[in-house]
Amino acid sequence: MSRVFVVDANKQPLNPVHAGRARKLLTVGQAAVYRRYPFTIILRQTVSHLMLVPLRLKIDPGARMTGLALLDDAMGEVVWAAELEHRGFAIKRSLDQRRAVRRSRRSRHTRYRAPRWANRRRKAGWLPPSLASRIANVRTWVARLARLCSLGAISLELVKFNTQAMQQPEIAGVAYQQGELMGYELREYLLEKWQRRCAYCQQSQVPLQVEHIVPRAKGGTDRASNLTLACEACNNAKGKQDVRDFLNSKPEVLSGVLAQAKVPLRDAAAVNSSRWVLFAQLKAFGLPVETGSGGLTKYNRSKRSLPKSHWLDAACVGQSTPEQLAFKEVCPLLIKANGHGKRQMCGVKNGFPIRYRKRQKVHHGYQTGDLVRVVVPAGKKAGTYLGRVLARAIGSFDLITQAGRIEGISHRHCQPIQRNDGYSYAKGVPLVITS
Ligand SMILES: [Zn+2]
Repeated sequence: MSRVFVVDANKQPLNPVHAGRARKLLTVGQAAVYRRYPFTIILRQTVSHLMLVPLRLKIDPGARMTGLALLDDAMGEVVWAAELEHRGFAIKRSLDQRRAVRRSRRSRHTRYRAPRWANRRRKAGWLPPSLASRIANVRTWVARLARLCSLGAISLELVKFNTQAMQQPEIAGVAYQQGELMGYELREYLLEKWQRRCAYCQQSQVPLQVEHIVPRAKGGTDRASNLTLACEACNNAKGKQDVRDFLNSKPEVLSGVLAQAKVPLRDAAAVNSSRWVLFAQLKAFGLPVETGSGGLTKYNRSKRSLPKSHWLDAACVGQSTPEQLAFKEVCPLLIKANGHGKRQMCGVKNGFPIRYRKRQKVHHGYQTGDLVRVVVPAGKKAGTYLGRVLARAIGSFDLITQAGRIEGISHRHCQPIQRNDGYSYAKGVPLVITS
């Protein structure tokens, strides 16, 4: 079970407790619910002699999803985990859409907003809004967790593969061995070098196997310059043939493979500029930040025979990962970034204004995105629901629940549970390992 965060009456973070203990404290009235997501209770009294166990927050940042895991290093226990879904792609899509609408109005000689890019300059360290939002999401959650528990350290997956560990893979001749850390780093290196596709049929999104371009049986080496990635079908079809025989009928594919094999990958390919920005921002929290590579994360995860998921990847980031990871019944919290609404004052359809919006966001005490409990006493929609509300000035709200959308709920039936904080939440399923 994921643990429950506890703060004392002064909102000082305490050690997270087991759900059963939290339930008991709530029933006897020694605590109250402080926050629904992530579930936090607040004690009625202050605690003076604190014996805080520092926790390690581990982060596996991704383009769509970031895995978060809180670990008690000494016990090797995952205390809490989450998967944070970013809205980077949604931001990009809506900015593209806005640009297209403005451009089309200009070319149609309709009234329009003049372009303003000629007198604008990008500041140093500017990041595209989609990337900036991902970094801000992670920073928000690190700050939130720091208020709810005692953080002692942070681990971050910083690079895709560790060139230091491989010492110039093309020259030094790092051998490919499945199971060794070096093998995992090399695999990540090859994935980057061959753009995550089969070198022979260009298929992506399929399991790829490490393949010798000149087979070992014909004197080929284990060096990175003799390795590529192939899908299972191509790997089997090639078998022990030399690449020149295998690709006899496709000379252009052959020359492409041979040329690509010779190109050593620069160190720059291992790093992702936005992860460095995130690293710098995490350092500002004043906690020690450990970094790891993607190869190391995969190695740690396979060594502990854990399946792939974002939160387990996060738990496996870095050298500090405990030998035994205890995560019995940890339910990852699924967090989705929703933003804080639009600034658009004019509803647009096909480039034409169809409605105006009010500057006011709060209607009848509720704002779109608030988490509410709804009790409808009678009628067609009678029942009790929990969900995010869509607030309207007329007082007839929509409710977005896990089961779907319910329209036309009166504001009188709502009770606030948690105010909009830019995110929506769902409960993940615990991992069950059957062996
Ligand atoms: Zn293939």
